[in-house]
Amino acid sequence: LRLELNNVDRLSLVGQMAAGITHEIRNPIAVVRGFLQLMREKSPDSLDHYYRIVLEELDRANSIINDFLSLAQNRPVRKEATSLEDIIQELTPLLWADANLRGQSIEVKLGEHIPKLELNPKEIKQLILNLCRNGMEAMEDKGLLTLETRKVPTGVELLVSDTGPGIPPNKRDNLFQPFFTTKAKGTGLGLALCKSIVERHNGKVSVDSEVGVGTTFSILFPDPPQAG
Ligand code: ADP
Ligand code: MG
Repeated sequence: LRLELNNVDRLSLVGQMAAGITHEIRNPIAVVRGFLQLMREKSPDSLDHYYRIVLEELDRANSIINDFLSLAQNRPVRKEATSLEDIIQELTPLLWADANLRGQSIEVKLGEHIPKLELNPKEIKQLILNLCRNGMEAMEDKGLLTLETRKVPTGVELLVSDTGPGIPPNKRDNLFQPFFTTKAKGTGLGLALCKSIVERHNGKVSVDSEVGVGTTFSILFPDPPQAG
């Protein structure tokens, strides 16, 4: 028997499963991480390589749990008047460091006269990080990741472009499905989470990709309806 689940079923299934997981699981991981750090400091240098791997894998497990939980908490979010520019400025050092390690570059193009938007800053940070990580993971050395904001007639647009391999047309429909991944160590939760964050902000996400050239994810945050 093969069960076909549509997107909504999948998300509510994820939600029900995650309801059983609370911060109880994050606490022990935090404790283990703390003690590992202490042990690393007291251990001979010859073991440092192993500690590094263990800590990295622990962080990976942690981010899977975090993505999973945020996806499950598919509920209305608290929004406040937020400058997209401020959020991007805050993330830039982090992104820059990440790109640098990979031998890639980042360009940030901030549009002028962009109004503040009603956003949940934490979620929008997560959204931008997920899109940028995907872009970086898709690209080889010397790739260029571009982060852009611009005012369009219907709202504000946020674009994340990469010069990676692009996404073949037959994969594009699956991108936003939870657990869809083409990576050996992927979770397939990143874009599902992006989509649910964008939808909670009444936005729209779209992909434009050309194989061999690159990919652009665009998010449109529509202008609020005018009163009166
Ligand atoms: P993960 O990154 O864990 O694989 P995501 O939901 O973030 O999960 O992405 C799902 C899949 O979409 C990726 O495995 C990859 O095949 C594809 N993808 C996402 N972003 C890009 C991109 N910028 N370029 C090429 N492929 C991408
Ligand atoms: Mg991802």
